[in-house]
Amino acid sequence: MKIEIKNLHVEVEGKEILKGVNLEIIKGEITAIMGPNGSGKSTLANTLMGHPKYKVTKGQILLDGEDITNAPANERAKKGLFLSFQYPSEISGVRVSSFLRTAYNAVTGKDLSVVDFHKLLKEKMSKLNMDSALLKRSLNEGFSGGEKKKCEILQLITLNPKYALLDETDSGTDVDALKVIADGIKSIMDKDMGILVITHYYRFLDYLTPNKTYIMQAGKIIKQGGPELAKQIEEQGYQIAQ
Ligand code: ADP
Ligand code: MG
Repeated sequence: MKIEIKNLHVEVEGKEILKGVNLEIIKGEITAIMGPNGSGKSTLANTLMGHPKYKVTKGQILLDGEDITNAPANERAKKGLFLSFQYPSEISGVRVSSFLRTAYNAVTGKDLSVVDFHKLLKEKMSKLNMDSALLKRSLNEGFSGGEKKKCEILQLITLNPKYALLDETDSGTDVDALKVIADGIKSIMDKDMGILVITHYYRFLDYLTPNKTYIMQAGKIIKQGGPELAKQIEEQGYQIAQ
């Protein structure tokens, strides 16, 4: 079971950003994409999730064999795709807990009560040594970088998706938050989940060893390899990929 990205060409506002990307996200594996700023990593994540601004002009996205190239975002979420955002927005007046419950009920089709959902959430949070005081706060309002990211991971572990796309989940976090995030990911990672980790820096991959590493540049995958490739980039920079 996997997501297959085949010869994907994507345009944003009339400009071609992705120029024939081929990549697989296989269940039970952590796949990493590294690449310099502006290379198209977030464009790929947003396109996979079905963001309407990103137009697929050529190529295909298959989820467990099913063509989802033109499926709307909510359908993709129901099929088990999850995207964490690089810059989560602040929503005042919406508590973290109620946001998570709404998302959980929408995606699973269940109708968990506030009390039952709270129980589920607290259980998951205590496993990760996360302070449940976070749940009572407004979504992302006044959150530190680390808190925002922890909140994303909380989303991830409550929704328990088949495929998780983590776009720079490590950016703007200190080492402590990084560990919580990596531990959170490891705690839910199993043979039934495929994870795509998009990162600019190697540091995150020190905690979370990828099975496969892809290097993206100027809208194309220019190199692929195993965990050693990520390490090589860390030591020698992106020029080794050219
Ligand atoms: P990365 O995540 O690798 O830093 P992005 O996918 O964010 O790269 O950006 C790749 C290119 O696409 C950039 O030149 C960026 O300006 C452009 N781009 C991405 N999203 C948009 C958008 N919503 N509107 C206009 N241009 C965009
Ligand atoms: Mg990006």
